[in-house]
This record gives sequence, structure tokens and C-alpha cells, in this order.
Amino acid sequence: MSRILIIEDEEAIADLEKDYLELSGYEVEVENRGDTGLQKALEGDYDLIVLDLMLPGVDGFEICKKVREEKDIPILMVSAKKDDIDKIRGLGLGADDYLTKPFSPSELVARVKAHLNRYERLVGTGTRSNDVIEIRGLKIDKTARRVWVDGVEKPFTTKEFDLLTFLAENPNHVYSKEELFRRIWNMDSVGDIATVTVHIKKIREKIEFDTQNPQYIETIWGVGYRFKV
Ligand code: CA
Repeated sequence: MSRILIIEDEEAIADLEKDYLELSGYEVEVENRGDTGLQKALEGDYDLIVLDLMLPGVDGFEICKKVREEKDIPILMVSAKKDDIDKIRGLGLGADDYLTKPFSPSELVARVKAHLNRYERLVGTGTRSNDVIEIRGLKIDKTARRVWVDGVEKPFTTKEFDLLTFLAENPNHVYSKEELFRRIWNMDSVGDIATVTVHIKKIREKIEFDTQNPQYIETIWGVGYRFKV
């Protein structure tokens, strides 16, 4: 879910914007001051900022400039004066869009949606953060089906990748060889479960520093395997 920060000192307007954006499925936070708003914008993990121009503490010009120095998330600037909007454009502060008050909430929602979609297309080519599993030095990119160990990419076969990903996505859970065989090879457990042992061995050779003392996939004797986090 996309997170939006509204920096707006007129509480009635902020509440209205928040309500409409929340109804559209966004997670929204509001700051009523420029200084606290700037701090939140820099420290928080937001996907878009709706920024008023005239604010107590630090004004919208300064916030836009500071945020732009560190982040490339969309910034929608809002002002009561058409002249101010022209001024912001002239300054080239890097805001992505401008709205003059009063505007309709549905106009705001439409603009927010458009900018978030555009931004996701720009940054989201291939890898979305939720498709990557990172555990200590191990990084699994599920979208690209690639694996890195301490920054070094390791080649994985399809079944090795599936097995490692399944275990890493279900950590601290012990799976028997039969169960792993059924889940990864998609067959009844009458198959050759020694395949699982062979694949675990190969995976360990790629991801473990010391295969005799595995840090990721543990053997639970007499039961099966467990991914340790
Ligand atoms: Ca204001």
C-alpha cells in the first residue's frame, strides 16, 4: 500500500485530503507544521508528498528543495495563490505537480494516483521490494530468480532456487524430506526423496561459508530441514 505524507497547516483541509486519500486505499499521515513535516519527509518512508506552500516553521519552498536533494518521490505542491504556483515553477524546485486551492478532493486523488503510477513505472522496473528476500548475507530476488551471497551472485538451477526460496520464505519451520519433495517436485512422496538431500547439499555449497556448520539451512536429524533466521 502506498504511503502518503500531507504537510498542511489548515487542519480542515488536511483532514479532507486525508479522508479522500484513505478512501482511495492509501495510507496517510498528516503534519501541520513545516519543520516537523520536513523531518518526517526526510526520515519516513513515503511514496508521495502533498505539500502546502505557506507553513509555520519551514515553508513549502524550502521543504521541496530539501526533500528533492535526498529523494525522488513525487511532490504535489498546493497553494492558495496562483502567483505562488507560477513562482514555484520558475524556481525549478523539482515539484512534480501543482494544485491551486480550492481544488476538489477527487482532483487531488486523480493527480496522486497518476503520479504514483508514473513513479512506480520509473523505479519499479523488474524489482519490487517485496519480491526480494534478504537474510543476513543472503539475497534472493524472486522476480529475477537470482541469488547473491555476500554480494556475489551464485548460479542456481530451477529446483535449487525453488527449494531455497520455499525454505527461506518459511523460516523456523521444520520440513521433512517427503514434504519438501512433494512441494517442490510436485509429486507424491513415492518419488526419490534422496533428490532433496542432493539439492540441499548443492544449495549449501553455494550459500554456506562452512557446509559442515550451516548458518542457513539446518539439518534436524531424523526429521528434516529448517531455515534458520
Ligand atoms: Ca498554509
